Parts: sequence; C-alpha cells; structure tokens
Amino acid sequence: MTRTAARFAAVVCALGLASAALAAAPAAHRISVRIEPDTQELQGRDRIRFDTARAATLVLSSRFRIASLAVDARRIDIAPKLVDGMQHLRLPAARRIDLAWSGKLAPLDPSLDHRDTLTYAEPASGKEGTFLPSGSGWYPAVDGALERYRLELDLPADQRGLVPGQLVQERLEHGRYRASFEFRQPAEGISLMAGPYRIEERRLRTAAGTKLRLRTYFHPAIADLASGYLDAVAGYLNLYERWIGPYPFTEFSVVSSPTPTGFGMPALTYLGIDVLRLPFIRATSLGHEVLHNWWGNGVYPDYAQGNWSEGLTTFMADYAYREREGPQAAAATRLAWLRDYAALPPGEDAPLARFTSRTHGASQIVGYNKSAMLFFMLRDVIGKDAFDAALREFWTQYRFRIASWDDLRKAFEHTSGKDLGAFFAQWLQRSGAPDLRIVDAKAEKSAGGWQLSVTLDQGTPAYALSVPLAVRSATGEFTRRVALTQERATVVLDVPAEPLEIALDPQLRLWRRLAANEAPPILRDAMLSERPALITPGADAAVQAAAHELASRLLERAGASTANPSALLIVGLHADIDAWLAREKLAPRPATLAPAHGSAQVWTARTRDGRVAVLVSARDAQSLAALARPLPHYGRESYLVFESAHMLERGSWPAQPQVWRLKAPPGAR
Ligand SMILES: [Zn+2]
Repeated sequence: MTRTAARFAAVVCALGLASAALAAAPAAHRISVRIEPDTQELQGRDRIRFDTARAATLVLSSRFRIASLAVDARRIDIAPKLVDGMQHLRLPAARRIDLAWSGKLAPLDPSLDHRDTLTYAEPASGKEGTFLPSGSGWYPAVDGALERYRLELDLPADQRGLVPGQLVQERLEHGRYRASFEFRQPAEGISLMAGPYRIEERRLRTAAGTKLRLRTYFHPAIADLASGYLDAVAGYLNLYERWIGPYPFTEFSVVSSPTPTGFGMPALTYLGIDVLRLPFIRATSLGHEVLHNWWGNGVYPDYAQGNWSEGLTTFMADYAYREREGPQAAAATRLAWLRDYAALPPGEDAPLARFTSRTHGASQIVGYNKSAMLFFMLRDVIGKDAFDAALREFWTQYRFRIASWDDLRKAFEHTSGKDLGAFFAQWLQRSGAPDLRIVDAKAEKSAGGWQLSVTLDQGTPAYALSVPLAVRSATGEFTRRVALTQERATVVLDVPAEPLEIALDPQLRLWRRLAANEAPPILRDAMLSERPALITPGADAAVQAAAHELASRLLERAGASTANPSALLIVGLHADIDAWLAREKLAPRPATLAPAHGSAQVWTARTRDGRVAVLVSARDAQSLAALARPLPHYGRESYLVFESAHMLERGSWPAQPQVWRLKAPPGAR
C-alpha cells in the first residue's frame, strides 16, 4: 500500500494494449446504449463484425441479462461460463455477432478515493456521473482482440456523455440526448462517461493543419474553468505537433468526474472535479495527458519488453515544462528524482525494462523518473538535434503500431549514427545505480598550465558514464565531461590555471545514487522508511491522538517495529519540539520557521548519526490534526509552513554537491 502514489494529481494513464491483443484480428462494434442514471438502468445492442469468420469469446459483466444472441443471423442459446463476475460466452466461428443486453449498473459512490477508483472496475452510474470503464464488462468485449467501434449513446436530456473517438453526430430530440461516436483505430476497450455536463467547444486548426474539436465536459460547479482548459489544451497540441508531428485524432476533451480520479484515454482525459480545480493540473498533468496521444495511445508500448511511454512522456511534458522555466528549475527536478530514488528501499528497486504501469510509489520512481532521466542522459549523449529528429522519425514509423524499447533505440541510433546498445542495456536491464565518488585528486604544474588527475570510483557493476566534473580555479569555473567505464579509474585533465576544487556532477546530469549528504533530507525519506519511529515529546492525550493519526497517514510502515529506527518522526507542540532538539543536541528550529509563522511548521533534519528526522511543530492539537490530510502530498519538500490545512510555504534545503578541495588538508573534504 502506498499513499505517495495515490497523490491526488497523479493521473493514471489508462494505456495498456496487450501485445497478444494486437496480434489478433480487430473486431468492429456497432453499439447503441441507453442509460438512465436516475435508476442505473442500461440497455444495449451490439453488432460485432470480423473481417473473416472466427471463433470468439465475449466477456460481459454478470450484472447484465442477455436478451438475445445471434451469430451470422442465427439465434443461439449459450450457457455462459462465470469467471470473476464476468460471463464468458464462447461462440462458434462467425463473421457477425448480434447481442442485446440490459441490467442495472452499480450506484455511483462519490466517496471513493483515488486509489479505490483505480481498482474499482464496476460500471457505475448516478445523476452526478456515469463511468463505465473498459474492462468492467459493460458491453460485450471480444476477448483478446482490439476493437474499433461506432457507438450511439442515448441519455436523458439533462445529461451529456461521450466515449473516446470522433463525434459524428449529436442531437436533442424527444426529451433525450443522443450522440454518436466513431473510433477507427484499433483500441483496447471502450470507456464511457456521462454526467450533468455543460459543454464548451472550440474549433482549432493546428500548426500542422489538423482540424480539431476541443471540448470540456464540466459539471456546472466548475464550468468557469472551461475556457482556461481549452486554451491550455490548444497550447499543448501546438507544442507537440511542432515537436513530434501531427496530432493523430480529431478531438480532445477534458471531462470532469464526481470522484477524485484521474484517467487518460485516447483523445480525452477524465479528471475529478477537485483535481481540475488544482491550478497545477492545467500546467503539468494536462500536458502530460495530451502528450500520451502520441506516446501510449498513438504508439503503443510493447509491454512484454517494458513501457517506455511514461518516461518519454514525463521527459517531454512534466520535465520539459520545468526546463522552460530555466536551468535551476530543471536541475531541481532531477534532484527530486534522485532524492526519491535515494529514499527507495533497495528491495523495491527493479530494472526499468520490467516496468509496465504504475502500481505503487516504487514503480513511479523507476518507471517514470528513472525512465525520464534515461531520455535526459540520452539527449546529452547524442545532442538535441539527433534526439528530436529520432522522435519525429519514430512517430512517423510507428503511429498506431506497437514499438519496443529496441525500436526506440534504433531510431536514436539512426539519427545519431551512434551505437547505443550498451547505453540502453545498462539503464534498462539493471536495477540500482552507479555510486559515484571522487576518491583522490592531485594537481601538478605542467608546461602549458596545470595537470589535474582525478580518481573516480563508481562501485560495482561499472556503468559506461560521461561524468561531468566542475573545476574551480583561480581564474574561473569550467565543466569537463570525462569517460568512466571501469569501477575505478584515474582521469587526467589539462587545465589552464591552478585548480582549487572539483565538484562531481553538480548539476545532477547522471542517474546515480546520491551520497548521504548530497541529498538534502525530504519528508519522503521518512515516509518510505522501513523502520520509522514516532516520538511525541511532552504530548497530552489530544496531541498524542493527532500525532498517531498523522503518522498513520504519513508513514508507509507506521507501526513497524521501532527498535533501531531508520527514520524519526517527531511530533509535538512548539515548546516541546524546541526542548527536544536542545536535549538531543540537534540544530535548533531554522530561523525561517518561527512558531509565530502559521499554525504549524514541518522540517527535516539529520540526527547526529545521519538518520532523517522529520519535525512537526504545531501551535495546538487542532493545528496538528489539520495536517493529517495535506501533509502526505508534500513528500518532496524539506520544509513547510501551514495555517490549519492550508500550505503557506514550502521548499527544499539546497543540495550539497560532492566537492574535493585540492588545497585543503587530507581528510577535510
Ligand atoms: Zn502518464
């Protein structure tokens, strides 16, 4: 169970075309479905066609009754096999199947949290919203086949709804809303959404000349956010068309959900009302979802070989937006990735090639962050022009096809003319990371200036690395990249002036294990800790109760044995926290976190033996209780100030690069 992965803003990109499915012939559905959210009744008819006659198994939720079934126009009666709440209907070879079904959907439960919604595969409906996820058996899916579809949706007049695909027609008649959609590309399944939506629409002709229909389907409570979202979507579509190539669909819609969820699908994203209200969703997650129409829903990852699409999307969306802010913001993002990785217990690390989709915090650290860093390092190796040219080539070649990491590698090799086999192998097939250290350095005067020899160690097994060394000399600072392919090697650099100190990869351009003091401690170090201990100095019963509630929400392993703790969570009132710090001979409360500022302050520190301590200092028990909900969302911060549950200030202590001082006495580095 991982709370950090269930962060609100975390949109789950519902990608997942199985390779086996892609191998089979696609099925073409023609569905009409009538839904009554008031009573949760669903009535459907489907005509499924195959290019050639084939035997097929249909999968339909056992909550539905089959009213009629025919193969090639012959009515048949088949006893379904029940498997995990699904009816499996094994049909004889045919080119056409006709099926009518009806039944009651589950009532919509808006109290579900994000994690529940991810695992909750029941098709559910209510006046506030209907969500019929693909895989929930709401229509007769053809087992193991990709599906094209045309679908007509019939809803009460005050409801609107959609499925991924091109809107062919919509009308209001006889007190009903009817809309037809067509999805021509092979899709893995069909998800349907409906609700009391207000639709805002914008027509757009993109830079590449694609004519698009952009829409928001928003609940009335957030209807005023529509035009901001449409502006943002248009901006992202232009960005990625210029960068990669034409957008592959005819629409993009942002759809609100009454539950706090986040799903990405071809040409649309389905986000909780409260998620849509968060200002950073438009600035980051939305762009990420738009980009998945190229990577994930445009080119399908070959899951047997691992999912490259999350890393490439994170690199070209979340990370790219930080890079646009400037080099400091970009370096801060890389630091956050490496810091998260440093906080990952070794047993939870796994090779990137094994990542298929996000199920918990650990797989996000590898599948998203390490993967994004792979693309960052690759761009350093081959240069931006070859990198971008490869993306365009890859897109042209694999649009609506499956592609593997190997296919991606070949595209980068083709545009760069470099053999990248070893590069991809070491970052994809291995877990772990190099543990880079400067173990010795010497400078000698030479004929033309100075000769600097630096001995680097990276632990075992050795990676082939191009290590940035920032050398500070009397006349200035410069950075050189040196090749390191062995576990330990000495490199020699000619430098013009006397070198004073050397910093190892200070901009964090390599995926590596940070040294203990290189990474400033963050909340997540304690949150993911294997044996966290809760300490409540001077606490009365109310503070105790609030502290325990906070610990259970914050720590993944709250209640684990606390003998020899690996991290400390110290929770109390201001005076008790200050007294505890003094007693433990630790640095006092940072001056910027004065008790007068806000109702609670949270910060990280290190104990004298190097363990991470998270200090939570509150004005009273009530202020403490108010942190239980918001605090787990801030795992990447080193300090925070809250007024009740409202975050006033946050930040990270600066990174401390590994520096070797040439002029300092031995041992004083
Ligand atoms: Zn994603």
